[in-house]
Amino acid sequence: MSILPFSLPGLWRQTESPAATAALHRLEYPLDPMPRTAVLGWPLRSDPRTPVFETWSVKQLESARPQALAGSLKDLIEVAALREMRVLKLRSLSYPLVVITRPGEPRLSESDHDRLWRLFRLPVFEQIRGLDGRLLAWECESRDGFHFAPDAPAQMAAPIEWPKQCNCELALASELDEAPRVR
Ligand SMILES: [Zn+2]
Repeated sequence: MSILPFSLPGLWRQTESPAATAALHRLEYPLDPMPRTAVLGWPLRSDPRTPVFETWSVKQLESARPQALAGSLKDLIEVAALREMRVLKLRSLSYPLVVITRPGEPRLSESDHDRLWRLFRLPVFEQIRGLDGRLLAWECESRDGFHFAPDAPAQMAAPIEWPKQCNCELALASELDEAPRVR
């Protein structure tokens, strides 16, 4: 549900909510060490470094003092709108943002990146997660494409457009160890 005092009909598609099993998966952050990152709208695994707000309020978010945010583009734009209205300050924000998209959703465009840069003055990395919360692909910090989880190919059979693969050596090793294989 939108927390804005106005609605933007038709701007956002009605989409299915991520499943409760998403709580099995933690946020992976593109940089190490991970800053304190508030996760918005995705019920990922919560821990002190990554407070998770499936739904969030101004008060909750402000008191979490996040240094970075991760969530859908919709949630991040809502945060930006509330900051512009000076309802929300979030002075602690200082690390790159993570936008979580789903397979089949459009990838973040150049104009999305530009818009988020204008609003937050922070770089943005994209992650693609299944509705079960599993990390399928993540934008490389080299900005030269995406890395794919080992079990992503099974899900890539869906007739959707996947981003360019990055061929560098960088990868989220911990996630690769953790990711359960698709049987
Ligand atoms: Zn790479």
